[in-house]
Amino acid sequence: MRLIKTGGVVLLALVLLGISCENRKQLSLQDDVDFSFHEQNFGESAGDLLRADKYKSLRVEIHYMTGFRPDMNAIANLRVFLNQCLNKPEGVKIFVKEIAAVKDTLLTRNEVDTLRRANRVIKTKKDQIAIYILYTNGQFHNKYILGQAFRNTTIIIYGKSLRNRLNAFEASRSEILETELLLHEFGHLLGLVNKGSPMMSDHDDRKREAHCENEDCIMYAVIDRNQDQPLRYFDEACLQDLAANSRTNTE
Ligand SMILES: [Zn+2]
Ligand SMILES: [Zn+2]
Repeated sequence: MRLIKTGGVVLLALVLLGISCENRKQLSLQDDVDFSFHEQNFGESAGDLLRADKYKSLRVEIHYMTGFRPDMNAIANLRVFLNQCLNKPEGVKIFVKEIAAVKDTLLTRNEVDTLRRANRVIKTKKDQIAIYILYTNGQFHNKYILGQAFRNTTIIIYGKSLRNRLNAFEASRSEILETELLLHEFGHLLGLVNKGSPMMSDHDDRKREAHCENEDCIMYAVIDRNQDQPLRYFDEACLQDLAANSRTNTE
């Protein structure tokens, strides 16, 4: 999850170019699987996402509730990251669709799960793994949480909380914050930190499970920064974990 703790202005961006990600090809087919595949804990499909031995392509379906359309530049940045860091020789496809808003906008975990089940149609099948991203019109009970990696193949974005946060930004910076949020949650699905992609070095945050201790890393748990601080991406330790897991079983 991603927490915002203070009202400090955040300046974030991506250093997407020059990131070294493993890219190996290996062909095999996976039998059809049903929705139960998507009920695992977050991080448990890290290897399936990073490698190509089971799944050779990735389909990302993004649903947004009316009024909470994602920033398309942020989605484009997510696409660049996925193409660079995931070994999907048959490609990454992203689809965006509007769905109806709901009345109850203060969400518990159970309510989030109900929304996920009610709206998700995309599933992992054959050699294509599927990710579902839902932009809700609401906020989590903890209003400081902007998004959550939910189980192994879903990301929930709390649209109301995100919008409130973005309103404090200039337009050019809000794209960056939304990009960072998406990449952070995707980082959890990729097993960071130490939740599916084993640590190659000791860098987990002891107080906040599944996060990086480096506050300059995108996998740090809290955004609490000011304008003068540098832009944020996965740090070297997190990239090493991803690279190592992308190599497992593919040598
Ligand atoms: Zn997190
Ligand atoms: Zn890190």
